[in-house]
Amino acid sequence: MTAAAPTPDPALDVAYFRRWLTAAAQLFVRDEARLTALDAAIGDGDHGANMVRGFAAARVAADQSPAVTPGELLGQAGTTLTNTVGGASGPLFGMALRRTGKRFGSETAVTGEQFASSLRAGAEAVSKLGGAVAGDATLLDALLPALDALDGALAAGTPLTEALRTARAAAERGAEATGPMQARKGRASYLGERSIGHQDAGANSVVLLFDALTIAADSSWQPEPTAAASPQESVEAVRSTPRSGGGRVGVVLVSHSREVAEATAELAKALVGSGDIAPVLAAGGTDDGRIGTSAERIHAAALKADEGKGVAILCDMGSAVLTVQALLGEGDERTMPAGSRIVDAPFVEGAVGVVVTASAGGDIDMVVAAGEDARNYRKG
Ligand code: ADP
Ligand code: MG
Repeated sequence: MTAAAPTPDPALDVAYFRRWLTAAAQLFVRDEARLTALDAAIGDGDHGANMVRGFAAARVAADQSPAVTPGELLGQAGTTLTNTVGGASGPLFGMALRRTGKRFGSETAVTGEQFASSLRAGAEAVSKLGGAVAGDATLLDALLPALDALDGALAAGTPLTEALRTARAAAERGAEATGPMQARKGRASYLGERSIGHQDAGANSVVLLFDALTIAADSSWQPEPTAAASPQESVEAVRSTPRSGGGRVGVVLVSHSREVAEATAELAKALVGSGDIAPVLAAGGTDDGRIGTSAERIHAAALKADEGKGVAILCDMGSAVLTVQALLGEGDERTMPAGSRIVDAPFVEGAVGVVVTASAGGDIDMVVAAGEDARNYRKG
């Protein structure tokens, strides 16, 4: 028996970044419920599912048209994230990867220093895109300390694998440090001081991305065969995960316009007296972002909003009403969560009544009644 040789540092080539992508996709599946719970506390509870969906899609894209260089692979992954994640984290992480990949140019392998400086450019692009700086309690609060640690370790001559571990540890400390911060960007910022005391979900995703960088450093690493959960399976996983604070009625807001649905969700959530908000999902617009209604989006939102206590669905008009009625009726192959009900109410005022009552722990009858009560509000 010979003593185990220290692991040689990996070449940062396309195979390395492919292992990284695969490991990241697997880690997001593993930690989906935790990320979702973090986002549910101060956001809208979709971050875990968003990252699982985005990285699963990026893996599929990488398999379908294999990149030749690391730059190409990161560019492709970034574009896929931007197109498939759905939440704010999509364009932000997407930008980080695309900018990093662009900095790699057409190199077939990059050095540790090239990687660190390119990722720094990626982080700067994220800051420019989202307007956040260090201390705003976003993903940057894990990414920037990790980059500082990586630069420091490489400058001190630390071997790459060890330097990546150092960076990962700094990312984790950075994510933990978002707990006492007040969120100043993204949805969590709408809670003002009530965001204090909760770690940022995106910062925790950065830790997983650095985890994946350390895992990929082992060139013999193989993914677990179970890693390839489909997006639908991941929605089911969220559904069966009990959220903190016990089950409540979920809320789905269906508008022809994605913006109207999301803005109404934000308004209703902002008017809840406590930071402890029932699951509220916006399902506006079509799958490709046009004005319209998508049964698939509404169905997916209802599954995500469901905590076993029923789901109250508000819609604006026309096809939104018809699509929800069709989903709730017989004949649609998709099964809506038990206790799903349409609320016959004006959209904005009804949404506020429904979200406030669901957040307070009202049952589905109370929640629907609170929404329908909004029909009686007189304004003249
Ligand atoms: P959404 O907020 O649209 O639901 P996600 O839940 O997927 O999207 O992602 C939320 C995460 O995105 C936050 O935890 C935060 O880290 C990050 N984020 C949101 N807005 C910004 C921003 N303007 N700048 C940097 N990061 C942001
Ligand atoms: Mg979210």
